Order: sequence, then structure tokens, then C-alpha cells
Amino acid sequence: MTFAEVLLPVPIQGTFTYSVPPAMAAGAKVGHRVVVPFGRKKFYTGIVTALTPFPPEGYEVKDIAFTLDDEPVVRHPQIKFWNWIADYYLCTPGEVYKAAVPAGLRLESETFIELHPDYDPALAPPLSEREEVALDKIIGAAKKLTLDQLRTATGFQSIATVVNGLIAKGAVTIAERVIEKYRPRRESYVALTASKSDRDALHAAFDAVKGAPKQEKALLALIDLSEIMHCDTDEVREVSRTELLERSGVTVPILQAMARKGIIRLYIKEINRFRYTGLPVAPLPVLSEAQSAARDAVVASMTSNSVTLLHGVTSSGKTEIYIHLIDLMLRQGRQALYLVPEIALTTQLTSRLQRVFGDKVVIYHSRFTDNERVDVWKRLLTSREPLVVLGPRSAVFLPFSSLGMVIVDEEHEASYKQQDPAPRYNGRDAAIVLASMHGAKTLLGSATPAVETYYKALTGRYGLVSLTERYDAVPLPEVEIVDMATSRKKGLVDGILSSRLRELVVDAVDDRKQAILFLNRRGYAPVARCKMCGYVPRCSQCDVSLTYHRRIDKLVCHYCGTPYEVPAVCPACQEPAIEVLGYGTERVEDEVTAAFPEMKIARLDFDTTRNKNGYEDIIDNFSAGKSDILVGTQMVTKGLDFDNVKVVGVMNADTIINFPDFRSNERAFNMLEQVSGRAGRRASAGRVLVQTYAPAHPIFSFLAAHDYQGFFNMEITQRQQFGYPPFVRIIYIYLKHRDAADLNKAARIYADRLRGLFGTRVTGPEEPPVGRVQSLYIRRIMLKIEPSASIAKVKQLLRELYVECVNDKTLAGTTLYYDVDPY
Ligand code: ADP
Ligand code: ZN
Repeated sequence: MTFAEVLLPVPIQGTFTYSVPPAMAAGAKVGHRVVVPFGRKKFYTGIVTALTPFPPEGYEVKDIAFTLDDEPVVRHPQIKFWNWIADYYLCTPGEVYKAAVPAGLRLESETFIELHPDYDPALAPPLSEREEVALDKIIGAAKKLTLDQLRTATGFQSIATVVNGLIAKGAVTIAERVIEKYRPRRESYVALTASKSDRDALHAAFDAVKGAPKQEKALLALIDLSEIMHCDTDEVREVSRTELLERSGVTVPILQAMARKGIIRLYIKEINRFRYTGLPVAPLPVLSEAQSAARDAVVASMTSNSVTLLHGVTSSGKTEIYIHLIDLMLRQGRQALYLVPEIALTTQLTSRLQRVFGDKVVIYHSRFTDNERVDVWKRLLTSREPLVVLGPRSAVFLPFSSLGMVIVDEEHEASYKQQDPAPRYNGRDAAIVLASMHGAKTLLGSATPAVETYYKALTGRYGLVSLTERYDAVPLPEVEIVDMATSRKKGLVDGILSSRLRELVVDAVDDRKQAILFLNRRGYAPVARCKMCGYVPRCSQCDVSLTYHRRIDKLVCHYCGTPYEVPAVCPACQEPAIEVLGYGTERVEDEVTAAFPEMKIARLDFDTTRNKNGYEDIIDNFSAGKSDILVGTQMVTKGLDFDNVKVVGVMNADTIINFPDFRSNERAFNMLEQVSGRAGRRASAGRVLVQTYAPAHPIFSFLAAHDYQGFFNMEITQRQQFGYPPFVRIIYIYLKHRDAADLNKAARIYADRLRGLFGTRVTGPEEPPVGRVQSLYIRRIMLKIEPSASIAKVKQLLRELYVECVNDKTLAGTTLYYDVDPY
């Protein structure tokens, strides 16, 4: 007897053992999906991760109910990678499996039984009595039945055996809600029946169409399109029916007539929706001297380091260097993974890559439909062709076969870290591990590397290559700091616009250039308040004040999205005195429109990019010069490449630097340096204007000098002094509960147990900056682990504590999870 370890998409540690009925052995190999009974009544689809001849001890194993695949749907190293993620980020492999595999391949509990469309009782083997009963129920049901429903309808406890009999006899198939949606795209193709070397057959074909001018036309077009005159082997180019109809101008019945004569063959082929059919049109970019030196240094570094950091200032042409390295990989017949922090960035890059690599470019992200994602998955699964995959963090989960290199662009970005749900992994760090499992190299790129990354590069754990000049010797933008307090006193501020900023915007637009105004708050005004009594409307489910959105005239909670009517009178004092305060992007857009009535203004934020192409349209229009000023949130800071921006205005830098978190300086410096980097990327210098009430903040002098090293030196000293990464590892423990008192009790109990294990390494519990979201109160405990401690041991203890607490009745109702290496 063989037993299979099956990984299920459930948040329970470990795999589950099932016996493999001998008849199913071929379908239950490692990497195959199987349907298994789980719990009292449910069926789940899981993945076989191992086979053993030894039965588990202590309980009776159940049989696998069905098998689904003839070939594995995952590649072997993937399961190892999932286990690493689960282990490192303290979640279960089942949760990783759920995040990793597109839903179309990951049937969840609802397994449906349906009549096989080709079933013919007259031809099939006779059914047993029970099988008859079950089949009747299936045919007679108003809608498709799940296994559980069929069990109830028939009263057969061993329903899986009965259904298996029906499957074996070709009477039913099992389907699943999700898989039903997955339909491979098919296309019709046409081919000559004669092979090109067979002259006689070709002549016969021409003879056969004599007197039928339309058929002759089609035949000539087919010969032309299949390019049989151009190549030496018998291989010809595949011709789609659409293409042939277009070229020859004939109709489908003509082709069918030719097929009946045996001249041509019509066939249907599954095609991948994401095949880019164009050929590469652009050569590799010619690198500048500095760029080729950097490329060579990266190549050299990769021979001795598994990870290399490319620290290149904004607009130094890191992308061009990546393209060269990808080309090297592809020519070695290997695959490259190119990670970007935001789905949005794939748009600008896709065409840049496709122009050079044509159909070797594969794009993967979560905004694709499930069908589309399954297509990409299958393309990687079934071939070992050299490809470059472009995508956000989830692309690390694809079934790579011969990965040679991973590029993590803008590696400092917080969006590489998944916050919710588990696995709470960092795509950058996971990519490094993935690469090493494949014997591949990792290249991290940034103008403002994460403090941890730069520290590793300086201390020799990573290779370091620096690129200090912009492409084409464009100077870095000049940064001016405007002291808003003084300017306001002098009457030099109108609304949120300082007169200096107005001057620069006007000057840029007069010069036929563009401006970007950056503000990290969306909506119209971040605070509403009663001017009589000071009452501030808050979300009923979250611990935050509401943001006023003028376009919809509502107050909105930015944590849970709930909209509220603006109260006509203050609910506290009944006076009609609710006013709104502060600035969001909507209000800046309004003010800028009023200030510059002759200019065209566009806004880029979460609200203007909700619909499918919103983001692309705004970016494309701005790139094409259809707007003069782009007002936007963080979305404008990230890696975008505009030609014509002369001025970048940071409207309110104070909201960026005052953030209660150990990463606040790092985040602020990165954000400001990156947004500055959008200015003057080509041909001429740009200018950055920062409006702040705290002009003396040290960040600004480093920013003005574009002095990353200076910033890093200050920051690393503070991190060491106060014990923050990279000098310790941080694990946050989050507890959530509907009831504040119960939560406080649970958090105290948990913290005490943690202190029993880890002593003074534990801080808290504390209330995070937003202490309640979607009706759940939140408490956080911080665990700092020094680098010399055994992290494996720490995690083992945390896992045991988790299990202990989940089973502890006094903590019932508390949700608990870990966040390893928070960002
Ligand atoms: P980074 O990613 O370092 O900010 P990019 O790779 O986006 O910079 O390059 C900035 C701009 O300079 C882009 O518009 C790019 O097309 C151009 N550029 C950089 N290197 C070259 C090159 N070798 N040849 C032509 N254009 C280049
Ligand atoms: Zn809310």
C-alpha cells in the first residue's frame, strides 16, 4: 500500500496522510492534485507532496477520493519553496499553497458531480445498483450536486467509492466551480496535407483545385503564409484560419471543401492568451560607458556573490542594464524573473521589454483573470523555454524550470511585503531564497536601497555596484526647501501653494514642460470638525477620523472604505458648524485649477484609478503631454519614467516625516528622493520644491544634496543605538478581538507567556497607531531577536505558543498572527 502526504489549503500546520487505492496510483504522484475527504463531511483538493510505504500511526487513514491530473501541476522545487515561506514567516504551507496557486488550479472544498456529456448507457459497462441510484439523483437534480449533497440524497456513506465507479465507467465527471471557469482558448489552424518535399503531392493539390478559382486562391495564400519556400527543413510556419481567410478573401465553406478533398487539414489548437505575437523590433539598448562598466561589474560580482545590489541614482538607466543582463540569461537558455513593486509599473515596462525580447516576455499579476493566470502557469509548467517573467511579488510562485537570475527592482519598496492575509512574506527576500534554490543569482536595484540591504552590501554579504551619474549626464534635480511658517507670515502662501511653487510651475509650463505635485493624502480634506464644539466625526468601525471627499460629497473611512453622509448639524452640539480642514489630492487639484485656469490638470490617486485602465490612461496622457500638471499620491513616486517634467512640488512634507514607526525616516527619505527623481529625467535639469513647516529636519539636507550615504550613516547609527533592524530581527505579534476588555486580557496573557520565554526581548502589548479596524480592536506585541540567537529555536517556541494559545479557552475569540520582518 502507498500513502500520500497531501497539502491542503487550510490554516493547519503540516500535511495530511491518505492511502492511495492501487487503481489511482498513476494519478496520485508527487505534484498531482487529488480530492480527499477532510473533516466530517468536506472534500478538498490538495497537492501530493510525498509518497511513502509507511502508514501513519495512531489513526485510520482514509482513501484519496479522486485524482485530477496526469501530469504534476507544480514543479518539485516549488513545494520546498512554499515550506520555506511557511517556516520563515510563521504560517502554514496550506496558506502558502493558497496564495501561490491560481484559483483555477486550486479547487476548493466544493466538488461537483455531473453527468459526462458523452455518456452512452448502451455502450458503457453496466452499473451497479448503488451506481444506478446515484446516477438517477445526479440526472434528476435541479442543479449540480456536490459530493456532500449527493451523499445526503442517496444516504450512501461511502459515496466516494460509488462516484469513483461512475467515473471509471465514464458516466460522470467531477467538476468544480472554479475549474469550470477555466477554459483554454482555442484557435483553428490550417495546414497543407502534402509535405513540402513531396513534389508530387503538391502538384496533385494544384490539380485538385483546377477550375475552382477560390480554392486555388486559398491554396496559394496558404503556401505563401506557411513560408514553405523559405526554409530548408520540412517544418513550416503554422497558419491560423483567421489569417488565411483574411489573406485569401475566401470563406470557411471553401476551406471545408478543400479539406474534404484532402488537400488541406483543419485543426484546433489550444493557445495561450498571453502569447505576444509580434517579433522583437528593437536591438539591445546601447549602454553608456558608465552603464557598461556597471553591467560588467554586476556580472563579475555575480560570479562570487549570490546577491548583488545595484545602487544607481534615479534615471541612471538601471532598466537598460537589466535588459542586458536578461539578454545574457536568455542566450544561456535560462529564465529570468523581473520583479517590480507595483502592478502598475508592469505597463510601462512591458512594451520596453517586448520590443527587445518579443514573445519571450511573460507578464503575471493578480489583476489578470484566473484563466489568464492559469495560462501563464501552464506555459511555464510545460516548457523549459528561456523566458523573462515580469510581475509583482506573487510572480515568485510560478513554476520556473531553469531560473538563472532574479531582478528585484526598487527593492526598498514596502509594497514587496504582503500585509494581509498570510503568508506575510517579503517578495524581495523570498526571491533571494527562490534564486538560491535554483542556483540562480539575485540582483537588487534601487536609488535608495533599504537600510538593511545597504548594510549587508557594506558588510560584504551582498556584492555592491554603484552607478552615480544619470544617463546622458542629466544633472540630478536641484532641491529647494520652502519654510511654510515664515512664508505664511510674509503673506507668500495662498491656500497650500507657496508663491515660489507657483512661480516654478508657471515657468515650467511657459517652457512647454510639465509639473508633478505630490501629496500623500487622497480625498479632499483629511479632517472634518465642528467649529463650535470641536467634535470630529469618526468611523464607527475603525479608530480613525473620516476624510471628506468632495466629488461624492461624503465622509469616507480610509481603513474600511465606509462612506458617511456629512452631518448637516453637529451631532454633538446641534450647530450647523461642521467644517473640513487640511488638504488631500482632490483639494489640491481644485486649488491648482483655480490658480492656473489655463492649464490642464490631471490627478493620479486611488480614487481616479479604480476602473480597469484608469492608471494607464492617466500615465499615458501625461506622458503624451495632454496635461500640464499631474497631482498625485505615492503612485507618482514609483519608478515612472516621464520625459518632460521640469518641476516636482512636494506639497506637505510634514505628513511624510511625522510617522510613528522605526522606518519613518527611511520611508520619508526614499519617498522624497524617488519623487524628486521624476524631475528632469531627460535632456535638462529639473527642480524640486519641498514645502514644510519643519525645514530643519535632517532629512531635508540629505535630500538637497542627494546624499544617500549621508542619510544612511545617520540612520544606521540610530538603528544601532535603539536596537532596530538590521541589528535585531523584529517579529510583531498581532491580536485582534471584537471586545476591548477581552482583548486587553488576552494580550496581557500572551505577553506574559512570551516574557516567560524571551524575557526583555518582549515589548508591549501596545495599541498600534490605528487601534481598531473594521470593528476589531488591535494590540501588538514586539519581539526583538538579536542576530546571535537561534532564529529556528525562536520560531519553534513561537509556533508552540501559538498552538497552546489557540487551544486555550480563556483566549477564545482572539485572532492571533505573527508578522516577521514587518515593513
Ligand atoms: P532608472 O531605472 O535608473 O531610474 P531608466 O532605466 O528608467 O532609469 O532610464 C532613465 C531614462 O533614460 C529612460 O527614459 C531611458 O530610456 C533612458 N536611457 C537610459 N539608458 C539609456 C541608454 N543606454 N540608451 C538610451 N536611453 C537610455
Ligand atoms: Zn472604517
